[in-house]
Amino acid sequence: MADYIYTLETRLSPDQQKAVSLVLEAAKAAGMNLYLTGGAIRDIITGFPIRDLDFTVQGNALKLQKDLEKAGAVVGDADDETRTLLLTLPGGVRAEIAMARSERYDKPGKPPQMAPATIIEDLRRRDFTVNAMALSMNEGSRGLLMDPFNGVADIEAKVIRVLHNYAFLEDPSRMIRATRFTTRFHWPLEERTQSRYESGKENNYIEYIRSSSIGYEIEQLAYEDDALGVLKAYEKEGWLKVLNPRWSTAKVDTAGLGALMKTRQQMNELGYTPEVAPAVLHFLTERLGDKDISDLRRAIPRKDLVEGWKDLDANAHSLAKRLMGKEAATPSRTWQLLSAARPEMILFLAITARQQAVSQKIKNFFTKWRQVQQKIPLPEMTELHITPQFPAYPKIANDVFMLLLDGKLRSRTETLKYLKPLAPPPPPPPPPPPAKRGRGAKAAAAVAAAAPAETGKAGGKGKGKGKAAAVPAAVPVPVAEKSVAAKGAVAGKAAAPAKAAAPAKAAPPAKAVVVSKAAKAPAKKASKPAKAGKAQAGKKKK
Ligand code: ATP
Ligand code: MG
Repeated sequence: MADYIYTLETRLSPDQQKAVSLVLEAAKAAGMNLYLTGGAIRDIITGFPIRDLDFTVQGNALKLQKDLEKAGAVVGDADDETRTLLLTLPGGVRAEIAMARSERYDKPGKPPQMAPATIIEDLRRRDFTVNAMALSMNEGSRGLLMDPFNGVADIEAKVIRVLHNYAFLEDPSRMIRATRFTTRFHWPLEERTQSRYESGKENNYIEYIRSSSIGYEIEQLAYEDDALGVLKAYEKEGWLKVLNPRWSTAKVDTAGLGALMKTRQQMNELGYTPEVAPAVLHFLTERLGDKDISDLRRAIPRKDLVEGWKDLDANAHSLAKRLMGKEAATPSRTWQLLSAARPEMILFLAITARQQAVSQKIKNFFTKWRQVQQKIPLPEMTELHITPQFPAYPKIANDVFMLLLDGKLRSRTETLKYLKPLAPPPPPPPPPPPAKRGRGAKAAAAVAAAAPAETGKAGGKGKGKGKAAAVPAAVPVPVAEKSVAAKGAVAGKAAAPAKAAAPAKAAPPAKAVVVSKAAKAPAKKASKPAKAGKAQAGKKKK
């Protein structure tokens, strides 16, 4: 049997893994069984990116709300009818926790009769076989895959198949979903599903769509990587006017959307992961009237998404104003201002800024200024024992960077002159070797006593393991740091962006090198960043 837990752990981002643990803890505390369901399972098997986490609990999911909020979750919606929570978990992880339920459709257009159910019954109400799987997260059955409709086989065959003949009639939003998945994955509908779909279209099943489903599907569009592609497919199939009668591809700011995706990619390469969904909605609806936009907003269940969308213009405007003001009078102050700003805001402003000066500052932030980091003389700082282990290191490194940015340290000599008085006293000599008995002990003690203060050199040459370990890790640490710094710093420019992207992913390089990361990095971690970066890069490429 495939080890799905292992695959899960390797495929989820660290934030997603934390999200899983958090939800599991809350479910355990409430005595509910927890399953990972829906797209995450499909994507674990296919290898496609896992966009959000859909959980199902056997029990009332709404009861988990308080615990999850305490753990940092933002609740975007709590649906009493289906007992479903829409959440954003720490790290921006989107998640949905639904109560396992059965659905019985008595009449098209009427909501189904719902009842709490087991996970297996719950899988029967799902849309497509590839989405009707559950992975147990529970002790005793952890890692067990439930796949009653053989979704794995359909994933292998790369087809979208409904669970039964009435799927589209019972819930016509599944036709919209079918278009979304066929467009995203480039998988066709399975033959019978295709003919049900055609007959659903001919017979206008869509007029029975529930308004809650319309809102849900508008929301999902915001998270598509190729939202414009999906929108075009919706228009072609006649679904776009279902989401809003006046929506069409002509209402989209295609150039803005393209720039958004391109700039996001560049930011990703530098280690920033801005949430683009609100901005995607902004550009998709740029030329729609105010009334239509407020209708769309009202329909979307996830309120944090709507708030983010509404606030875009005002936030960008206020950031632009600050960038034009005294607060950003020098490169270093601008750097600090932009480092503290939310990546989403910078991204949106980068695309929409009208003032040349604002655009230029953002551009410098991502390119030119980042390269100034390379001027921080790390090897010399190492010699001066200004290393991450030195408590004042983060401040000193940051100050040097700021002075370099503002052109106040114009050469290496000037920089070193500035650094020297800040260096700590040299490290103490290593402790004497453990006392031996007899004559040897005396001799060893004599050698230790004679050893000069910089025994570090001897240790560095690797004469004896014991000695090397006792020497403060002055040399290796920053050298490794430097390689990350250098990679990070060039990431903004042409030099090997793909490689640079991976180490940067863990933490934006600027912050990593100059302040926060160094401040936080424990000595152990600091000694290996270059390798870790490469390993990450390797993983990403797969
Ligand atoms: P992704 O999140 O990658 O877009 P997904 O399959 O997870 O894809 P969601 O919209 O997140 O899609 O829905 C989660 C799961 O809920 C689906 O996989 C499916 O099992 C179920 N689901 C959602 N909408 C419907 C529906 N209209 N009918 C039946 N099941 C649905
Ligand atoms: Mg999902």
